Amino acid sequence: MSEKPKVAFYWCSSCGGCEESIIDLAEDILKVVEAVDIVFWPVAIDIKRKDVEAMEDGSIAVTFINGAIRLSEQEEMVQMLRRKSGLIVAHGSCSHLGGIPGLGNFWNKETIFNRSYHTTPSTENPDGVVPLEKTEVDGKELTLPAFWDTVKTLDQVIDVDYYLPGCAPPRDLIMNALGAILEDKLPPKGAVLSPNKSLCDDCARNESKPEKMEIHEIKRPWEILMDDEICFLAQGIICMGPATRTGCGERCIIGNMPCRGCFGPTDQVYDQGAKFLAALASIIDTNDEKEIEKIVDTIVDPAGTFYRFSLPSSILRRKRMEAIK
Ligand code: SF4
Ligand code: SF4
Repeated sequence: MSEKPKVAFYWCSSCGGCEESIIDLAEDILKVVEAVDIVFWPVAIDIKRKDVEAMEDGSIAVTFINGAIRLSEQEEMVQMLRRKSGLIVAHGSCSHLGGIPGLGNFWNKETIFNRSYHTTPSTENPDGVVPLEKTEVDGKELTLPAFWDTVKTLDQVIDVDYYLPGCAPPRDLIMNALGAILEDKLPPKGAVLSPNKSLCDDCARNESKPEKMEIHEIKRPWEILMDDEICFLAQGIICMGPATRTGCGERCIIGNMPCRGCFGPTDQVYDQGAKFLAALASIIDTNDEKEIEKIVDTIVDPAGTFYRFSLPSSILRRKRMEAIK
């Protein structure tokens, strides 16, 4: 009997939703288990780091890594998994683009620790304890991974072969990716495993866009009763569809919520936030500077909105440290 291809799953800085996306394969996971040998998956099976270290380099056919890179331990683990794996797939928005953890790049370690361990209203920390990389307890040294100032995408740390986009990637894209790997029908290295066109191209509301779209103010979803057939942008609601890759099945739009951009940009777009800003500027209906300022002021947290999933992969990468000080 020929040996089944070995597959690994690992998570870095993420919420756990991408791990859920594997569990959500439901009965399809049985097909996966039948076709491959899962050799490392910390969330589900008890295989230790030393066991992976002992595996031969290149012996894992493919490793799916979700989450951005924030800690020294994550950097070490993904470097080791790169050596052990034939293919690396960045699984989900955080490893692909930086994702929600990447919004931490608007701050640095000092400001994040200060907020988390000292100033949140629910914090009670009279001794001002913060996590340290080394601590002496009863004559023994305890260690924690280093917390970097800057969150990185997976491909800013190791070579990545393919990207599965989404927060989290949907079941059909995961199964298609596994199928393509098993049947050796993969596209060229570096491909994002989802169609290369914008979400608007597939959105049922696209036809509701007026010929000349013009907006006079920006609303948040809770501020109006949203029509469930009309394009969100035409209703004055920020929808990242024009700057976002399709492939999710328009799942937020179908739930009557605008797109937040978790699939990232298409291949033609270098910076998702800048692309959306250009799309938005083209539909603001005035040339009066003061009026433009007034409309733009109605956007709550524009940088966090336009770069919600993509800040570490954008041309900005992070906020300048001098600006934080
Ligand atoms: S902007 Fe949003 S709602 Fe409008 S067509 Fe594009 S994806 Fe659909
Ligand atoms: S609609 Fe946008 S935010 Fe929602 S799943 Fe699709 S790409 Fe992600």
